[in-house]
Amino acid sequence: MLENNCIFCKIANGEIPSATLYEDDMFRVILDLNPAAKGHALILPKKHAADLFELPDETAAKAIVLAKKIAGVLKTGLHADGINLVQNNGEAAGQTVFHYHMHLIPRYQGDKVNINWVPGTLTEEDKKEILALF
Ligand code: 5GP
Ligand code: ZN
Repeated sequence: MLENNCIFCKIANGEIPSATLYEDDMFRVILDLNPAAKGHALILPKKHAADLFELPDETAAKAIVLAKKIAGVLKTGLHADGINLVQNNGEAAGQTVFHYHMHLIPRYQGDKVNINWVPGTLTEEDKKEILALF
């Protein structure tokens, strides 16, 4: 349930106070302490899962429905022009807190938020290898 020394376990379960936008029996939604943009929020499950791979299917399904609801309130209330859902898994992917969380980042036309990558080219070799996985 709670993982020792996991900051998001403590926040999600109310042991450490946070700016909470929403709470139910499974989730807490908080404001990020170092927001990429105004309204940057995090959806935290109350039960510890390090990342997407450890997250139970039921929690994963509910998290996206909750994200839709919170994103709608942020977009309307803050007059955002868009919202990024970002979810990092593993250090190589930029994850720094190893308790599953989903970022909701409101976007404003012309903002300087950087969630971009340099587009590559899909090679025939990669395409074959990846298609063969499924
Ligand atoms: P990650 O890089 O793991 O996807 O994202 C971790 C996020 O958690 C970062 O955006 C960081 O600003 C936020 N964060 C880290 N520690 C705390 C904290 O104690 N409280 C809150 N509200 N956000 C935190
Ligand atoms: Zn945790």
